[in-house]
Amino acid sequence: MAIHVRGVVLPDDEVRDLWLVGDRVTLDPVPGAETVSTTGFILPGLVDAHCHIGIRPGGGPIADLAEAKTLAAIDRAAGVLAIRDAGSPYRYPQLDDDPDVPRLARAGRHVAPVRRYLKDIGVEVTDDDLPATVAEQAKLGNGWVKLVGDWIDRDAGDLAPAFDPDRVAEAIDVAHAAGVRVAVHTFSEAAVATMVRAGVDSVEHGTGLSLDLIDEMARRGTTLTPTMINIQRFDEIAAQAEPKFPGYAAHMRALRAGFPAVVRAAHEAGVRIHVGSDAGGGIAHGMAAREMLLLHELAGMAPLSVLRAGSWGAREWLGFPGLVEGGLADLVVYDRDPREDLAVLLDPTRIVLRGRVVG
Ligand SMILES: [Zn+2]
Repeated sequence: MAIHVRGVVLPDDEVRDLWLVGDRVTLDPVPGAETVSTTGFILPGLVDAHCHIGIRPGGGPIADLAEAKTLAAIDRAAGVLAIRDAGSPYRYPQLDDDPDVPRLARAGRHVAPVRRYLKDIGVEVTDDDLPATVAEQAKLGNGWVKLVGDWIDRDAGDLAPAFDPDRVAEAIDVAHAAGVRVAVHTFSEAAVATMVRAGVDSVEHGTGLSLDLIDEMARRGTTLTPTMINIQRFDEIAAQAEPKFPGYAAHMRALRAGFPAVVRAAHEAGVRIHVGSDAGGGIAHGMAAREMLLLHELAGMAPLSVLRAGSWGAREWLGFPGLVEGGLADLVVYDRDPREDLAVLLDPTRIVLRGRVVG
């Protein structure tokens, strides 16, 4: 059964007729196709580039595949038709081709330092075991490895790098040799410096970035997923930590205060930014459009740049081609132009995943 959609297709900004046959797009008319939308603005499906459908709300691994599907369905209803899972304690390769589930780019489990990360989430390793563990996790995802670059060191009372810089560099080389890209969680200045110089592909959060490192990222083509929603919660984290770890609390508050300027500088320097809600655990699913609004409101990114960060640009980066001949039949329709007002992203009028109307 083929589907026909007509509207202003972005980013090309042209009124176009698209036919969706199976999970592919064609520009050649398909006789007998069912027309499901004839007005409005059409975006290639949104991408949540930092999302965890393997972590249950409140923390800990999900119980089964059905729970992952339930969480992914919340994102899908918000127009997210591709997800990069940035670390999961529960493996779900069966969902890679599930017609109900957004396209998936998956990391394996978070590779984390011993007893210094969220309980039951990561595979916890020492420096010496880091490269071999990364090699193992590279096989368990489908294109990504997730490293935890820093976390609180309770003895030091502050954020501290998770691993030795030489081992990190070795581990990243191991992942690249296996054809897998590396995403790294970092909050602190020290950890992100090590990770960028060691050749990580994608910096997650990145609150500790300096202007020098931003330039280095632009040169290397390292991408940034700022997770603005998550960083907004740093004050809460700081308040909880204050009695025992006042230095850590002050550091987190300072990182939060400086973050919009970091994202703005990265964007202006030409670093590719992607939209990531960091849903899972403490953050609800279905928030990608909110994250896009924050990239505009707090970091000053122009609407077209925000749309690229959360739609066609992110899809290209993950290998999910958009609304071109032979592209993937994932699209979202809005009744107003999102370039004029990003708030319309909160209210899609039609959602089509893999050539099927799902919303
Ligand atoms: Zn995350």
